[in-house]
Amino acid sequence: MNQESWDVIVIGGGAAGLNAALVLARARRRVVVVDAGEPRNRFAPHMHGFLSRDGMSPLELLEIGRAEVRGYGGEVVSGRAVRAGGEAGAFTIELDDGRMLTGRRLVIATGLRDELPDIPGLARQWGRGAVACPYCDGWESRDQRIGVLATSAMSVHQAGLLRQWSADVTFVGPLTADLDPETRAGLEARGVRIDARAVSAVVEDADGTLTGLTLEDDSVLPLDRVFVGPRLEANDELLRQLGAARAETMQGEWVASDAFGATSVPGVWVAGNSAVSHALVVMAAASGASVATQINADLVGDDTRRALATQSSR
Ligand SMILES: Cc1cc2nc3c(=O)[nH]c(=O)nc-3n(C[C@H](O)[C@H](O)[C@H](O)COP(=O)(O)OP(=O)(O)OC[C@H]3O[C@@H](n4cnc5c(N)ncnc54)[C@H](O)[C@@H]3O)c2cc1C
Repeated sequence: MNQESWDVIVIGGGAAGLNAALVLARARRRVVVVDAGEPRNRFAPHMHGFLSRDGMSPLELLEIGRAEVRGYGGEVVSGRAVRAGGEAGAFTIELDDGRMLTGRRLVIATGLRDELPDIPGLARQWGRGAVACPYCDGWESRDQRIGVLATSAMSVHQAGLLRQWSADVTFVGPLTADLDPETRAGLEARGVRIDARAVSAVVEDADGTLTGLTLEDDSVLPLDRVFVGPRLEANDELLRQLGAARAETMQGEWVASDAFGATSVPGVWVAGNSAVSHALVVMAAASGASVATQINADLVGDDTRRALATQSSR
């Protein structure tokens, strides 16, 4: 990687960032992707719901994506961007090893972090026995004994959804005691069991397979799969440094962006989970592609202004 200015610097090399880079590289833009290599779904052995890629390893998808970007002349570098500054036409990005990049436009596709409840054994099961998304892992959990941890008001939604995949669903945790009568009646009418006891640990067998949850009275609720809604934290440090406006969402404050991923900072776009916390992989990839077309059009406008200025100065 040289120190020249890039047309576009993409921060984050998940599905969103790589698809943005692929479309931009194919548009013959000079594009570099900086990636810290920690995609959110790296804990999961398989990725589901992506047409033609269903069941693929998430890491394999990204490996193929990096090769495709490089195949069109884009660069993908390992590293973490720690500082962002400047303005449209001359953004500066500093990496954790001191490298500096300058670019005309920025794509922030840094994703989010899943903050799990502090239950012993839960983090070890994350992506396997303990998962979040019914559309990603519901089919694999069909007709199994499913537990849904009550971690927030959103968990009710998760418990209701999962009844679609199994008749054996237990909604568990002290927060279930706060359910309003109508919601409780609706869940129970559909056969969802409600258990207000606190969960103290995840139980595994000798092979490391999740087999249940230990409850506050030391009894074990036997289960095959636990669904949990983690607290979602955006990896948005760079957007904060750039002064991007924020907006209230169902997940709390998130960067504000329009339908095309443009933020309040001219020249800065967001894609994937950086833009929308509920984006699945295929949605993240699509938003990266969409952002790329917007940026290329924006750069064409820039190129035209420059060409006219050059012409009139002759
Ligand atoms: C356990 C689990 C299983 C899932 N299973 C599925 C599934 O089966 N199907 C599905 O569609 N979705 C699934 N998802 C959701 C999926 O993970 C997201 O849709 C997807 O990762 C979003 O892509 P993204 O590119 O926005 O972010 P990410 O994939 O998270 O990529 C962001 C990248 O940016 C990098 N980064 C962050 N900060 C910086 C920085 N400062 N500098 C440089 N790089 C940085 C990160 O290291 C990471 O590589 C799952 C999620 C989880 C947690």
